[in-house]
Amino acid sequence: FTRAIVGALVALSIISLVLSLVRVEEVTLPPTVKYGMVFDAGSSHTSLFVYEWDSDKENDTGVVSQTLSCDVQGQGISSYASNPPEAGNSLRECLDKALQVVPAEKQRDIPAYLGATAGMRLLREQNSSATEQVLAEVAKTMQEYPVAFKGARILTGEEEGAYGWITINYLLDSFTKYSPKARTWLRPEAANIFGALDLGGASTQITFMPEGSVLSQNEASEFTLYGYSYNIYTHSYLCYGQNEMLKRLAKELIVGYNETVSLSSFRGSPCTGGSEPRLALGDSTVTLEGRGNASGCRAALRNLFNFSACGQSQDCTFDGVYQPPLRGRFIAFSAFYYNFKFLNLTEGQPLPVVREAIEAFCARSWEDLSSSYPKENPKRLPKYCANANYILTLLLDAYKFNETSWNNIIFQMKAGSADVGWTLGYMLNLTNMIPPQAPARLKGHRP
Ligand code: AMP
Repeated sequence: FTRAIVGALVALSIISLVLSLVRVEEVTLPPTVKYGMVFDAGSSHTSLFVYEWDSDKENDTGVVSQTLSCDVQGQGISSYASNPPEAGNSLRECLDKALQVVPAEKQRDIPAYLGATAGMRLLREQNSSATEQVLAEVAKTMQEYPVAFKGARILTGEEEGAYGWITINYLLDSFTKYSPKARTWLRPEAANIFGALDLGGASTQITFMPEGSVLSQNEASEFTLYGYSYNIYTHSYLCYGQNEMLKRLAKELIVGYNETVSLSSFRGSPCTGGSEPRLALGDSTVTLEGRGNASGCRAALRNLFNFSACGQSQDCTFDGVYQPPLRGRFIAFSAFYYNFKFLNLTEGQPLPVVREAIEAFCARSWEDLSSSYPKENPKRLPKYCANANYILTLLLDAYKFNETSWNNIIFQMKAGSADVGWTLGYMLNLTNMIPPQAPARLKGHRP
């Protein structure tokens, strides 16, 4: 009898052990942190961004944060056309830094992307084989690191615009909101969707959700995000980034700030490369001397836009490019922000105040400026006046913001701790982290 009881007890404990094992299997694992990395290979420089998020929240909105940003030393990758292996080497320092912030056992799972923008689009126009070699070299370097390399390619201008728009609205949580009361995801208010204004070194992008449909296929993108569809207008203007624009301006102004430019530098870019008898002067240099005249500067800048190509059409910016009427609030980032931040104009000042501040800044003498800003990069300081005037021309004359809609532009470079740019939107899209349906809700996990 005793043996029977002992036997039963043993059997019971085996059963309970098995049951407890089964129960262990049922318990959801605690969320783990996942990582992703994207290189933004811009025209003037390259930055690396590392992002992280909880694995159990990856389909929710606004849960990705930026772990690290790293500026690659030196120029953009397009500047290595004559020495492509150095383009790859230039990335190593940031790749090493990135690996220091990700636990070793997770590194091989990090999806790693490189996206190149307008600098490489321009190089492709001039020298497609060098462009391919530079891309091959950066890919080769990334593949030497213990990460999940997912590709190095040139984004189209429209992708660059659209991913910037996704980044902003993702970070600002404008896509969707969960209503605990209604126990459902709510359709976002169109008024809460932000437009994106991006000014790079070689191109500029404008992206927004217009009132009606986008009438031109070239500029239309459609996304279904978290259960709702968005029809977006986006256009990228190659050669209208601020560096290429200043080069174009210099090419026109070649008369009388004291900057020496070599005429051969104009041949280095398709934006200024067109032949012109005036400039057929071999390798000589000319000196540009600033006049401190802001309105004269804007007049010269306006000449670089072909406004007459729009005729009487209101839905047109310049060069005959279609743009529907502006709508809603915009986040203006990258060089829109850098220049206005320097000029203390990112506090939502009204347009007349902004105009006046720019006029006054431009009128200051070089001696005054250079002694007032001893810590400012001496390459940047002389350019803020022309850049700020370019920004006014672009926003007001080309995009058609006016004194009222000006107040809808927010000059901002960060949302939370993340930088605003196209990289986050690119990664979210390629890792399928924005589902076309509303996210599942309230997935609990046991403690
Ligand atoms: P990129 O993103 O490389 O296309 O560069 C955007 C533009 O912003 C380029 O014209 C850069 O020279 C300029 N830029 C980048 N960082 C700064 C900064 N901290 N202050 C002023 N201008 C900047």
